[in-house]
Amino acid sequence: MFKKVVATVKENSKIAAGIYKMIIACGDADIRHFVPGQFADIAVPGHAELLLRRPISISAVNPDNNTAALIYQIQGKGTDIFSRLTPQTKIDAIMPVGRGFYLTAREKTVFLVGGGVGIAPLLSVTQKWPSKTYEAFLGYKGRDYAYCLDDFENACGKVIVTSDDGTLGEKGFVTDALGRRLIEAKPDIVLACGPVPMLRALKDILSPFGVPAQVSMEQRMCCGFGACATCVCGVDHGEGLEYKKVCIEGPVFDLFEVVL
Ligand SMILES: Cc1cc2nc3c(=O)[nH]c(=O)nc-3n(C[C@H](O)[C@H](O)[C@H](O)COP(=O)(O)OP(=O)(O)OC[C@H]3O[C@@H](n4cnc5c(N)ncnc54)[C@H](O)[C@@H]3O)c2cc1C
Repeated sequence: MFKKVVATVKENSKIAAGIYKMIIACGDADIRHFVPGQFADIAVPGHAELLLRRPISISAVNPDNNTAALIYQIQGKGTDIFSRLTPQTKIDAIMPVGRGFYLTAREKTVFLVGGGVGIAPLLSVTQKWPSKTYEAFLGYKGRDYAYCLDDFENACGKVIVTSDDGTLGEKGFVTDALGRRLIEAKPDIVLACGPVPMLRALKDILSPFGVPAQVSMEQRMCCGFGACATCVCGVDHGEGLEYKKVCIEGPVFDLFEVVL
């Protein structure tokens, strides 16, 4: 269950072009039951005029000291202010929010597919379920935008990297690299996070292989705790379209049920 807490910035540093990693002490939120895919909904400190909280996925947790790592990209005012927060700053956060990725004993081989800042939440999957066999497919804009590569190398049996400009790994889309790999090896499930065009391509590529997939939808949202319904998306379990609130009924959905 999520809580409104006063968290404390422990570290905040640049890890790639326009991308930062912030470690926060989570105050009264108990991080031990965190599920990968859940996020922290953070008020922009010192800027009451920026009414809406900014949702940022939790990319790793440390239950020993109740801290969480957040990896974020500067997009606009809110994330730009985040990038200048110094250690000891108090932040108002609601966390951990949402329904995350879900693995059972049946899924032994897992392919992780991430694009850009969507790569961040996938790292915590390997932390939560360390006994699975992982392959990671990571798509970056270019070498300067790459982050967490060593972490994925340590946690996954195979890491395939692509970049849009060819400055790192294979040139091209991460979904194309996945498509080539699927001809050789089929996982029990794919877990993914990234821009909607990437998720659409993922759906097309996976369909003929019959591989199930869960995706995290980083949809625009206002309240972040289920009250305003601005973040709804369509989901079809086969009985017609239903509308789900991404903040509390997601952000993770079945790729073949969610309307992209
Ligand atoms: C569940 C979830 C998890 C996310 N996880 C991450 C993450 O781990 N790392 C990361 O860098 N980004 C993540 N995002 C996107 C991040 O929330 C936005 O980039 C951020 O809110 C932009 O705020 P801003 O003030 O800098 O930009 P502005 O564009 O100035 O923001 C204006 C308003 O639009 C909203 N907004 C803008 N872009 C988005 C977006 N893509 N999604 C949702 N709301 C948006 C903001 O909340 C704000 O209210 C996530 C979004 C969601 C919904």
